[in-house]
Formats: sequence, structure tokens, C-alpha cells
Amino acid sequence: MTIATINPTNGELVKSFDPMSDAQVDAAIGRADAAFHELHGTSFAQRAGWMVAAADLLDAERDEVARMMTTEMGKTYASAKAEVTKCAAACRFYAERAEAFLADEPADAKAVGATRAFVRHQPLGPVLAVMPWNFPLWQVIRFAAPALMAGNVGLLKHASNVPQTALFLEELFRRAGFPEGAFQALLVGSEAVERILGDRRVRAATLTGSEGAGRAIARTAGEQLKKTVLELGGSDPFVVMPSADIARAAEVATTARCQNNGQSCIAAKRFIVHTDVYDAFAEAFVERMAALRVGDPMAEQTDVGPLATERGRKEVDEQVRDAVERGARVLCGGQRPDRNGWWYPPTVVTELTPEMRMWSEEVFGPVAGLYRVSSYEEAIEVANGTEYGLGSNAWTRDPAEQERFANDLDAGSVFVNGMTTSFPDLPFGGVRNSGYGRELSAYGIREFCNVKTVWVGEGTEAGAGAGAHAE
Ligand code: NAP
Repeated sequence: MTIATINPTNGELVKSFDPMSDAQVDAAIGRADAAFHELHGTSFAQRAGWMVAAADLLDAERDEVARMMTTEMGKTYASAKAEVTKCAAACRFYAERAEAFLADEPADAKAVGATRAFVRHQPLGPVLAVMPWNFPLWQVIRFAAPALMAGNVGLLKHASNVPQTALFLEELFRRAGFPEGAFQALLVGSEAVERILGDRRVRAATLTGSEGAGRAIARTAGEQLKKTVLELGGSDPFVVMPSADIARAAEVATTARCQNNGQSCIAAKRFIVHTDVYDAFAEAFVERMAALRVGDPMAEQTDVGPLATERGRKEVDEQVRDAVERGARVLCGGQRPDRNGWWYPPTVVTELTPEMRMWSEEVFGPVAGLYRVSSYEEAIEVANGTEYGLGSNAWTRDPAEQERFANDLDAGSVFVNGMTTSFPDLPFGGVRNSGYGRELSAYGIREFCNVKTVWVGEGTEAGAGAGAHAE
């Protein structure tokens, strides 16, 4: 894949970059290794100062950074600005909390025959971060802020269509004061990942991306016995039950499906509606979806811009056509416009059946699948009926039903009466084919740490105390 910025509104090449050679990559890994030893020796306070400086730079340069993201991948300028602000907040969150999240955890020394026993969290070293283009700043920051605060260093292999955002991120941490080499962008294609992960100086990897990329990285990392965190795709259910506020549910459903031009891993993708409220929900939802304004992502009034890539638009178009050819019904949208750029309109498709691709695959564009169910049990069966398990959404005002959804939805998160989103304070990640490991909160920062057991005895008795035995 070429490494280039291609404007998705018209398909024109804006800027291309030569991929780094193996020798340049090796030199970067060498700098990362050296930076790790330097960063490891710094205090939390020192790193927090640099992280807050990064947040200040993001706030100060918000509009410019947002414009760059909109140009590279087509998200609306308004949502790009919100993304920059969210990133600055996440940097501050980890600057403030990292030390407490990674503080020594005392254990019951007496129970293990020690005078002192505790758990210490220590960084692992250079971590490879393979990242997607959809939230080109946020996906990277939610890895980088905790990683750098823990004392790890980052090697970013960003998606090939957002090279300018990748280079901005490298510069951001350097300008904020982090040591040279603490966070570097490797301008390489996906074919270079296996070799990088094979380098013994690279200690772990995190990927946010598709299932296919997840399998490839997990395979290589498995051979190398390196830790991975995988944030993969999703086909989140959005279940609407009879007690729900239907107008509110339809409003949130529209945003949940079309945010980021429909290209969010945790976008609601399958709308599973109880038959008692199906007609009312469908009418309100279709009306709202059809009213969204598609157009120039820089324009203030635009709700939905183009898809990020030609390949992505082709995939969405083929998924909808496949459903229609097999008997599904389009309630709005569904036609690829005949104009330059990677446009696709907000679309609602119903009467889906298991043999259609849309039933089981993730649709990465503003296309909603609408399903009618006649009971709670059937809603759960359809909701859990894909191989994914990232986020999930349930709409009900019945407290007992809320509790059941919290238990029964097989996903990394359950949001009741609100849109699935991410917060620095809460863990984020999936189960099944949506990946493993967690980002954000205390869970996220500990993923790339050695959870080290420290046992200290008096040194006057043989062995490790009463009851000890060798493994
Ligand atoms: P993608 O093709 O998997 O690309 C993501 C990153 O992985 C890019 O840097 C890409 O590099 C690299 N990559 C692709 N194939 C690879 C391979 N075989 N080995 C190593 N690296 C590889 O994903 P996408 O289609 O651009 O992004 C959308 C997907 O990401 C969706 O499935 C979405 O749900 C998922 N996603 C998940 C989350 C989450 O948090 N769970 C968040 C956002 C997106 P190149 O660009 O050079 O190909």
C-alpha cells in the first residue's frame, strides 16, 4: 500500500511519502531501545510534566490538527476538533493518575511468610503500536499516553493513509519534552510489521484494526512469545425494548450509526427492535437517517462526510448489494452516488437473513441493519449472533431488564439508554473476534507492565517461609 494522503472528498493525491528502508527502521528501533533506558530512569512527575505539555500543545493547535485529520480521512471538522480535545484530556488523565495506577500493591506478608511482600509494576520496553485511520489521533493517544507514563516507549506504525497525522504525533511528544526516540513514527506498510515484531528489542505490540490484521499480528507475536493487545472490529447490537423512550432511542441510534461517517468500531451497526415498538422506531430512525446532510466535511452544517478510502467504500457498497440481491429491503439510501470521492449515503436495510453478508460481517460505513424480534430471548440471540463482541447497547426503562442485558450481552461493554463510547476512566476492549486485552483506565496502563512479585524475608530462615513449595 502506498503511504500517502489522498483526499477522500475527491480521490486526489495530496502528498506521498517514501516508505522507510529496513536500515532506517532498525536505526529507529535502536533509538527506541536507548530511549527506554533513559525514560525508565525518570520519575512519574517528570513524565507527567511532559505529558501535560503534550496536552497543552494539542489544545493550542486543535484547529490545525483537526484540519489535517479531515483532509487525510474525511471525518467532519467538528468531530475532528472534538477528537483533539478528547486526546488532550486523556493525556492529562494519565499524567494525573499513572503514579497511583502503578503504585506498589502491598500483599499480606504474613500469609506468605515474608516480612514484606508487594506487587510492583514496571515497563516492558519498546512497544509496537499498529494503528488504524478512523480516529487517527485518539487511537494512538489512548495507547501512547498510558504507555509513556508507565515508562514504555512507542513505535507507531500508523495506517498508510494518515502519514501526516503519524508524523505530527512523533513531533508532538518530542516537542513536549520526551527524550529523543521515546515515541517514533515508522512510515512503513503492513508487510514490514512481521520483521519489526521479530526484533528482540521490541517487547510487545498493540493493534487497533481489522480481524485479519489481528490474526496476522497475533500469529507473529505468538511465535516470538510477545505480549499483545488487540482491539479489533465489531458489529455492535443496539436493542430497543418496549419500555424504551423511542424518540430518544431513534435520535441516539442515528448518531451511533453515523458518527465518524459510519466508521467507528463501536458504532451501533445492528438495530434489534421489539415488535411492539418496531414500526414507531423504524419510522423515527429512517426519518432521521434520511435527513442527515452529506457533504464537505469541512462545512459546519455537514453531518456525514465521505468514507476514508476507495476500498472501504467498495466493501460497503458490495455488502448492501449482496443483501438486496438476496431479498433485503432498503428503507433509505442504498445507492452509491456517481461523483468523485468515496461517498456513501446514510442507509437503512431491513428483512436481513443469515445468508446475507450484512448479517454476520461488520459494515464499516453509515449503513444500519434493522431487525424485528418478538421477545427478550430472541433479542439476545440476534444480538450475540455474530463472532464479534466489542460494544453493545440496550434501550429499556425496566430495571430488571437492564440487569439482564448487563449479564446477557456478550461484549466488552454494555451501555444502557446511552450511546456506546470510550472514557479514560473506564476500560475499553472486546471479547471473541473483537480482540483481547484492555485499553484506558488502570487496566490499560497495566497491559504493558511487568507485574512483578517482590517477596522479602528476614534472611534468617531457610526457604521462602512456611508453606512454600517450588513450582
Ligand atoms: P486494517 O486494515 O486492519 O488496518 C489497521 C492497521 O493495521 C493499519 O496500520 C494497517 O496498515 C495494519 N495492517 C493491516 N493488515 C495488516 C497485517 N496483515 N499485518 C500487520 N498490520 C496490518 O483496518 P482498517 O480496515 O483500516 O480499519 C478498520 C477496522 O479497524 C475495522 O474492523 C474496525 O472495527 C477496526 N477498529 C477497531 C477498533 C477497536 O478499538 N476495537 C477501533 C477502530 C477500528 P496499512 O494501512 O499499511 O494497511
